[in-house]
Amino acid sequence: MRILVTGGAGYIGSHAVKELIRAGHQVLVIDDLSNGHKKAVDHRATFIRGSTQDSDLIVSKIKLHEIEAVMHFAADIEVGESVTDPYKYYRNNFSNSVLLLEALNTCGIKKFVFSSTAAVYGNPELSPVKETAARMPINPYGRSKMMTEMAIEDGCHAYGTGYTILRYFNVAGASVDASIGEDHRPESHLIPRILCAAREGTVVKIFGTDYETSDGTCVRDYVHVIDLARAHVLAIEKIIPGKGNIYNLGSENGFSVQQVIAACEKVTGRKIIIQQSPRRAGDPPILVASSKKIQSELGWKPQYPDIESIVAHAWNWHTSHPEGYETEMEETHDPLTETASEEYRMAETYRYLGE
Ligand code: UDP
Repeated sequence: MRILVTGGAGYIGSHAVKELIRAGHQVLVIDDLSNGHKKAVDHRATFIRGSTQDSDLIVSKIKLHEIEAVMHFAADIEVGESVTDPYKYYRNNFSNSVLLLEALNTCGIKKFVFSSTAAVYGNPELSPVKETAARMPINPYGRSKMMTEMAIEDGCHAYGTGYTILRYFNVAGASVDASIGEDHRPESHLIPRILCAAREGTVVKIFGTDYETSDGTCVRDYVHVIDLARAHVLAIEKIIPGKGNIYNLGSENGFSVQQVIAACEKVTGRKIIIQQSPRRAGDPPILVASSKKIQSELGWKPQYPDIESIVAHAWNWHTSHPEGYETEMEETHDPLTETASEEYRMAETYRYLGE
């Protein structure tokens, strides 16, 4: 299939692009590089710098590249920032998604995969969380994703757009060859923060040690980014226009912050210096997914379900890229010029393949 990936230069999007290409798909990435890195985009994909807000751009590129399906990752992801600057989240995550959905309608696209989050559940009452649990987000980030889910569902009903919504739990790890990985600025996620502390000998704060969990620290469900990316490939290949589905993506295994720190110490062979700190606002004590639905319906089977593989791949990435994507040479080209030539090359490839 010819697939448009928005946010394909981001952490999860770039891994999905790699897996889509590995599965034989042709990929067009549109990313405004506000959070992503062009170097993260597989060289076999076509890259265009642009925003999902730019409906004319989206429509023209979908037509030019004869796109058949869309995966939508482009979004802001900082829960804390969403509380202090909620309009940014409602605009970038919700309004821009609706603009994108309208553009897809204009082009007659009927296959849509959406990058959602466990944050739509808020503080779920039952664990592991099933897809049927109520959506009760507790912050603007979760609400912006929930509202987008609702727009997608309504669009399916009204216009027949087929969709799969994937709700991620805690994503970590990097590609096995350490060519791409996590490079958020600022970095708020636990595993990269611990690994940075391991590398630099700095302190990791544990946010809350008085939760009602086995060791008092929060429990999360960590899923390898490659397994997550492969779930996207399965999802897009199985979408049926007019039908919708929602799946959780986690491992069904909960790890406390302390347990993650222990796994990082084992993998890195370094002692992590910790500092017990107050709870972080908005953190649910336990978030663990039931992934039975995607396993039974799409045949998803995580290849790296163990926390140590996740940490080991992340560690390889962090040690080989201590400054993230800036570890390598700075880009010297003009992105606009390159975009034009890359697009031309992709159009040529299609002609050559007779598609
Ligand atoms: N956490 C922590 N110290 C950090 C970063 C995170 O103790 O420096 C905790 C955080 O409070 C949460 C868990 O680690 O309980 C996972 O946080 P992360 O930000 O990685 O993902 P989230 O669950 O918020 O999506």
